[in-house]
Parts: sequence; C-alpha cells; structure tokens
Amino acid sequence: MRPVSYHEADELVENYVCSACWGPLSAHPTGDGVEIHCGECGAATPGFVSRHYTEKQKASSLAQYYLARQALREAIPWLFPAKKTPDQLLKELGY
Ligand SMILES: [Zn+2]
Repeated sequence: MRPVSYHEADELVENYVCSACWGPLSAHPTGDGVEIHCGECGAATPGFVSRHYTEKQKASSLAQYYLARQALREAIPWLFPAKKTPDQLLKELGY
C-alpha cells in the first residue's frame, strides 16, 4: 500500500479499521511518508473501512443475535434450562 502523509495517517488510524479483520490500524513512518498497517494483518491489509461502519454493523449483529436467541428459547426451550441455585443442585445430588 502506498505511503500517506502524516495528516492522512492520523485520520486513518483514528477513524478507520482494517477491512479484512476490522482490527485497529497503526502508522509506520518510512522515508516517503507513513505506511498504515493492521495490528493483525500487518502491511498485507487489503484496505480500510470506517470505524463508524463497523460499530453500526456490530450493533446490528448484536440485535440480530438477541432476536435469534429469543426465537430459539421459544422454539426449543430445553436449549436454555432454568438456572438452579447451588442449594438446588446439591439437593438433586443427594446432599
Ligand atoms: Zn486486518
């Protein structure tokens, strides 16, 4: 990836993440400017997406998770047994 200016690097590191893994970015000064690397993918990052986009997607996915969990709880109740107190568990074990 081509080096960017220090100003662009600050903007990228603060407001963007890696497009492959959504990991944080870091700036690495070179002779020509600053290279942007991903913490996980390194210099092989394929590009960047805005942090705002990833936060919005994470919130949407979390909402879908809770809806799916509730639907499963209603459709297959035995997947989510009622929690028992330690006293109830001990009593069931014969203590
Ligand atoms: Zn990455």
